[in-house]
Amino acid sequence: MLSVSGLPAFTDNYIWAIHDAASAWVVDPGDASEVLAWLERNRLRLLGILLTHHHGDHIGGVRELLDAQPDLVVIGPRAGRDAGTMPWLTCAAVDGDTFRLAPWGLPVEVMETPGHTLDHICYFSEAHDLLDDPLLFCGDTLFAAGCGRLFEGTAEQMWDSLTRLAALPAGTRVCCAHEYTLSNLRFAIHAEPSNRDIHARLASCSALRDQGLSTLPSSIGLERLTNPFVRAGSAGELAKRRSAKDSFRA
Ligand SMILES: [Zn+2]
Repeated sequence: MLSVSGLPAFTDNYIWAIHDAASAWVVDPGDASEVLAWLERNRLRLLGILLTHHHGDHIGGVRELLDAQPDLVVIGPRAGRDAGTMPWLTCAAVDGDTFRLAPWGLPVEVMETPGHTLDHICYFSEAHDLLDDPLLFCGDTLFAAGCGRLFEGTAEQMWDSLTRLAALPAGTRVCCAHEYTLSNLRFAIHAEPSNRDIHARLASCSALRDQGLSTLPSSIGLERLTNPFVRAGSAGELAKRRSAKDSFRA
């Protein structure tokens, strides 16, 4: 079976890794030193990199990883290559592309999810004999009980992107790029005060954080119940909630 690990980086990022006992792929390695130390500790060989969007805390470590290992496969959005932000991509991906991650042949489908940035893509892998559940790497589009800020795209684009992600199988493991869950849940309670699932989730996630544990991965089913952006119902309501969250202080 394949394992999925979230490597903490910077103050609240996760660099996700898919791996077995010998090989690994990483998603959004913003910091190469965290990845290199983890590979060394676990005696793993890095085979490739998946990138969701062009922000520095997601791509900042790629050059150093390539310097250490020039034969890496680097998959990222074609829009990033075209904009010149990801000159080292070996595979420029667009919506609907499917890659098979070596050495397992794990199929990964690309979903374009503009909103946070215009180049943002997510990676989805269906249930497979090597995976317990379907898997989603969603960068800064979908967070546990939240969504990314609208730096480049519109609320309409983010609403379409979240709607597509929310339609994935309920059991899909959601690997987001930041540990923002508690502050997102405090805003979620503000947005939906009578939603009991949100209150229950805040209690369980607070207990995890008190023990120094990650609240991730989430699941698509849990996001449908507790994420005020997934649950907004329209692009207009999403826009209202997004701007309220931008100025919300719990
Ligand atoms: Zn970002």
